[in-house]
Amino acid sequence: MRILLVEDERKISAYVKRGLEEQGYAVDTAYTGQEALDWAASIEFDLIILDILLPELDGLSVCRELRKKGSRVPILMLTARDSIDDRVAGLDAGADDYLVKPFAVKELLARLRALSRRSNESPKETLLQIADLTLDTLTQRVKRGGKLISLASKEFAVLECLMREPERVLSRTQIAEHVWNYDVFNQSNVVDVYIRNLRRKIDDPFELKLLHTIRGSGYRISAESDSDETI
Ligand code: CA
Repeated sequence: MRILLVEDERKISAYVKRGLEEQGYAVDTAYTGQEALDWAASIEFDLIILDILLPELDGLSVCRELRKKGSRVPILMLTARDSIDDRVAGLDAGADDYLVKPFAVKELLARLRALSRRSNESPKETLLQIADLTLDTLTQRVKRGGKLISLASKEFAVLECLMREPERVLSRTQIAEHVWNYDVFNQSNVVDVYIRNLRRKIDDPFELKLLHTIRGSGYRISAESDSDETI
């Protein structure tokens, strides 16, 4: 497993690199955003650990750039601050998970294992449909009533998670774990933010509402309405 570590603070970089190498990972290091892009263009990594605060080109821009080029490499963001805004920004830029500094190498290793497990999952059904809403996981296209709907990458992931289990109520934690492999999400409202955006795009313009909030439980996607729901 080959990892690109992008962190400008040499001490942290050396410490993390050593910890990863002790576990048998091959680690290349980049100290600037541009260096990271150069590395990623020439070598196919299994995973990228990307600090947000970097000189010149920051981690968010690097992440967006990689996704724009079609790279699907799992990206773990490192952030110095634990705020909802930072999390949403990182995830919106296309990161798969993030870790708040300072962290223990043990925790980093657990995240890496989870991320690589997920990227090795076997192929699943690629065209999902509920009523007139369709989601194609190959082309990443979502349509409702035949009309193309543009979603951010994590909005797409949240919707895919719900559409894979139609009618079933999924808790915020289940959704967060599926989308971000992150299990300390329940104190935050990140999932709600994404659901609100999704609802605006896939439900508001249409009479039949598909995204349902189940009070005290979570969310469900269904063509049937529910009597005890709150919208
Ligand atoms: Ca840094």
